[in-house]
Amino acid sequence: MLLAVLAVACASPSRSVPPEADSVSQARLATAGERDASHSPVVKAEAKSAVQGGSAPATSTPPAVVPASQAKPKLYLLALGSELSSEDVTYVRRALQSFYDFDVLILPSMELPRDAWYAPRSRYRAEILLEHLARRMPADGFRILGLTRSDISTTKGNVRDWGILGLATIDGSACVISSFRTMKGVQGAQQARVRLGKVAVHEIGHTLGLRHCPHLGCLMEDAQGTVATTDRERELCPECRAELLRRGIALIGAPSPPWD
Ligand SMILES: [Zn+2]
Ligand SMILES: [Zn+2]
Repeated sequence: MLLAVLAVACASPSRSVPPEADSVSQARLATAGERDASHSPVVKAEAKSAVQGGSAPATSTPPAVVPASQAKPKLYLLALGSELSSEDVTYVRRALQSFYDFDVLILPSMELPRDAWYAPRSRYRAEILLEHLARRMPADGFRILGLTRSDISTTKGNVRDWGILGLATIDGSACVISSFRTMKGVQGAQQARVRLGKVAVHEIGHTLGLRHCPHLGCLMEDAQGTVATTDRERELCPECRAELLRRGIALIGAPSPPWD
């Protein structure tokens, strides 16, 4: 049960992070860090229950294990808002299919839910997005990943509103990623796209039960505060793969991610 409520915020604070968040970053890093979505990390916050406020994060009840049928588990992608390019969505799909032996299906996009809007910082609360996503997952879905170009945030430690790259509930059915912070310091649009794809693999990994990984270069690495960490990540390390297989997750034998 605890796991169901444990959410991991992969964030990347950045210099652009509001002062309020910066001041807290130290504290967060000190906590047991969760990674940032693969990337950056900054804050990995593992905010326990992402919801400090009481509302529980999206904790729909995902199948504990991969469905027994021969059909591959269905992973749905849902674009939130219309600003994300179809190229980005397609890239994320390719990245996920490179590692997970799932049917990755794209749902019609939907507008960002108004109740997730956090006016003081002009961004969307990720834990509320997770609740919406969990409800939107088709009945035959195994996991759902929401993507947006808008900035997203969650509460982390003492920081009321912390900008993040992505948020996932460990062993949960839903996760959400944002391209907003992937553009920090990039050489071009492609680099940001690659980061987004890596964050997607990372966040889905969390929903499958993976925690942050100590191996440098692993996509489940804790970013330690900088989005740039993602740039060195390439694949799921043998230990992370073994853990997924132990959990009954079907993986692609010889991954050929789009960034190789
Ligand atoms: Zn993470
Ligand atoms: Zn690993």
